[in-house]
Amino acid sequence: MRHATLDAAETSSPNAVRVDTLCGHRLAAQDDGLAWFWQTCAPCLRAAHRFLAAPRSQQSG
Ligand SMILES: [Zn+2]
Repeated sequence: MRHATLDAAETSSPNAVRVDTLCGHRLAAQDDGLAWFWQTCAPCLRAAHRFLAAPRSQQSG
């Protein structure tokens, strides 16, 4: 299952980087090409759509 995250993952690191997904999981980031063929997690997909639809000014900062 492919999840979405807003965390920046240092995928060049030899150690697996743990990221918080949009659906509330915490797992190791993977950046291999095959990941794009996985089915996307439905809650993550909905969260990503909400994030993309929101005004940029709503981001913290
Ligand atoms: Zn997810």
